[in-house]
Amino acid sequence: TSFGFKEVHEEEKSRLVGNVFSSVASSYDLMNDIMSVGLHRLWKDRLVSKLNPFPGMKHLDVAGGTGDVAFWILETLNSVKRRATQNFLEDNLHEETQIFVCDINPNMLNVGKMRAMERSLGEDKSLIWVEGDAEALKFKDNSLDGYTIAFGIRNVTHIERVLAEAYTLAWVLKRGGRFLCLELSHVEVLVFKELYDYYSFSVIPAVGELNIRRFPSQTFASMIAAAGFQKVEYENLVGGVVAIHSGLKF
Ligand code: SAM
Repeated sequence: TSFGFKEVHEEEKSRLVGNVFSSVASSYDLMNDIMSVGLHRLWKDRLVSKLNPFPGMKHLDVAGGTGDVAFWILETLNSVKRRATQNFLEDNLHEETQIFVCDINPNMLNVGKMRAMERSLGEDKSLIWVEGDAEALKFKDNSLDGYTIAFGIRNVTHIERVLAEAYTLAWVLKRGGRFLCLELSHVEVLVFKELYDYYSFSVIPAVGELNIRRFPSQTFASMIAAAGFQKVEYENLVGGVVAIHSGLKF
């Protein structure tokens, strides 16, 4: 690569990424808190508030790992429901919400399933764990209200395929469906740069090697538009360390 690392072939890359997350799955959540000094929670909170989840929604969280984004969505819905019940506004509350968590790595999903049980989330079958590749989702028949991917797009080999898949293939985002992507982008603040480098090079070296600064931050917006999404926007958080890109399917 242009950063002086050895060239890594695509298959090798997928294998390496898979292996890295297998070995860190059980410590991933702790590491995530430490490395982002807890900030990833705020970023995910922002992602979910932009999504604006509603009871009865069908949602897909890709590269969902140990379930953080899905849990955030369900917890948001639970508080919406509590408020509505208090105010006797119970219409539509009992529609069946389905949140699919898709990840290529079964170890991450297994950690996620355990965490869901610990938190008593998904007992109503609202959480569905699916092993799958963001580039080739195999699902049929669902129309989705939303699609999220958090800290996952850097890890895939072909970003365009992921976007095309989100837009057109098997999972068809229904009209008005939202695409939201949370990702590290330009690293403009020194402390975060160091944090990011540490996270990328030391803690999970293979991922760092493969992905560091390859992610095309702001140009990503044009890729989302090229995939067909409308109203593509992005919001920079903490000085552009992290960005949330969004698009709508009309
Ligand atoms: N979204 C979670 C979060 O924000 O905590 C997990 C993010 S973790 C940094 C990246 C995840 O992407 C890992 O769980 C990894 O297994 C998954 N992943 C990597 N390549 C993938 C692919 N091609 N398809 C689906 N998931 C993938």
